Order: sequence, then C-alpha cells, then structure tokens
Amino acid sequence: MIKFLPESVSVVLEEVPDRVTLAVDITNCQGHCEGCHSPWLRGDFGEELTPAKMDAMIEDNFGVNCFLFLGEGADVDTLLELVRHLNSKYPKMETALYSGLLEIDERVWDFFDYVKTGPYRRSYGPLNSPTTNQRMFKLTRGGGKASAVDITERFWHRGIDPNAH
Ligand code: SF4
Repeated sequence: MIKFLPESVSVVLEEVPDRVTLAVDITNCQGHCEGCHSPWLRGDFGEELTPAKMDAMIEDNFGVNCFLFLGEGADVDTLLELVRHLNSKYPKMETALYSGLLEIDERVWDFFDYVKTGPYRRSYGPLNSPTTNQRMFKLTRGGGKASAVDITERFWHRGIDPNAH
C-alpha cells in the first residue's frame, strides 16, 4: 500500500522543469537522509493512494501535465501499478519520482518520465545547489530503448528550494 498526505497535495511549477506539476507527499519514507527536512514523512500514516484518488486530484486540478510522487514509500510494486494507471489513462501527462534512496528499484526507470535520485545531504545542498549530490534525470524512450539524460543543471539558476527528498 502507498499512503499520501491529502492536505499537502499542491500544484508546483519548479520541481519539474517546464511542467505544471501535481505534487503528492508519499509517507513511510525508507530514506535515511542526514538532516532530513521532512522527518514526519518517515511515519507510516496518511490515506491510501488509489487510482480513483489520483483521478479525482487530476480532475480537481485542471491543466496539470505532470504527476509527481514525492517519495516512493515502502511498496514499489503498488507504486508502479499507480504509475501504470497514470500512463495508460493520461498518455499526455508525464510522471515524476523524487526518490531519496541511495539505491532505487531498477524498475522505476521503465515507467517514469523524470527520476530524481540521491539522498539529501545538507552539506552538499538540495537540487538547486551546484554542489548537490542529487541528480534529476529525464527519461526518453524510443525504439524500445530507454535513455536517461541528467538535467540537474536546469535547477541551478533557480532561486528556489525544491523539495529535497
Ligand atoms: S527522502 Fe525526504 S523524507 Fe525521506 S529521509 Fe530523505 S529528506 Fe527525509
């Protein structure tokens, strides 16, 4: 099961370049980031995230063109089912994952359009710091092959502090 915080669902403009993004906080984070900025997200609480709830969120936020999972929780199988639902029902909507894990389940590369990797390290800074250890990748698929392009530099001119999961 994947759980989320309904009260913090929001539309954001900076977390995924050039996208109007619906951002959803996923709880039960399995990360161990030094200086974790959102320790409450490590608790196993919140509402179950289901395809019907995602449909309702998208309907309530007309115009969004990207769905962002802020964290992957502890149930990657269910996470991938949810992304498959988005990919099949909303083919024009992109999907993104902000992971804070050192090692990401390899399967996520087959389903998401954007994947942010790496734990938050306060001394290196978040994604918009040129010294960050985190990386944002854009996935493209063609001819049966997927390729990942590192687009982290696109965050470095921004005076914002993207959620550093
Ligand atoms: S991924 Fe986010 S919530 Fe999880 S430990 Fe890291 S900073 Fe905290």
